[in-house]
Amino acid sequence: MTETDARFQHSHAVYVGSFDPMTLGHLDIVRRAAHIFARVTVGIGINPEKASLFSPDERVHLCQAATADLPNVEVTTFDGLTVDFVRQCGSRILLRGLRSLTDIDSEFTMSLTNRVLDQEIESVFLMSAERYAHISSSLIRQIAKMAKGDVRVRLQDFVPPQIIDPLIEKLKPDTMSQSNLSAF
Ligand code: ADP
Repeated sequence: MTETDARFQHSHAVYVGSFDPMTLGHLDIVRRAAHIFARVTVGIGINPEKASLFSPDERVHLCQAATADLPNVEVTTFDGLTVDFVRQCGSRILLRGLRSLTDIDSEFTMSLTNRVLDQEIESVFLMSAERYAHISSSLIRQIAKMAKGDVRVRLQDFVPPQIIDPLIEKLKPDTMSQSNLSAF
């Protein structure tokens, strides 16, 4: 790889995760990355064995809606190994977000494993703002399901505005039975 090739590939970061759903913490990482890198791909990992609230297509649409103001951000799904997906994107940068020391522990193991799988892929970590450090998709799914009163107001501190209504709709009792969520 020439130095120019490497620079080109290093200007494109691939941010991978489940994004079920995208949270304000995820969005903070995407915004920071969009300022640093020329191009950012949000890669939604599809694991058919893992129960999810939103389908892959729904997650793509929600992430696209939440990042619509960021012209250098694109959203897509992938299956298989993350390092293979990063390579398919023409990038060598695997981006992950950090909330806490607990995240560092698991991300450390994952990035060492990914380095064994593909030495040319560099894992890069960004920290979200402190006010988003407690936010996770699983927490949001719980709040959306259990909150009483004005759920919309309660969710606005956790998810991008575009995600509030789809989340409430998805968790309505009559929709829940049709959802692909089983381990919730
Ligand atoms: P995964 O199931 O692969 O961890 P997630 O969708 O939960 O996928 O998260 C994707 C990435 O975003 C991970 O690197 C995770 O640590 C990071 N992340 C999740 N929530 C936050 C947050 N509130 N602040 C910063 N990073 C976050």
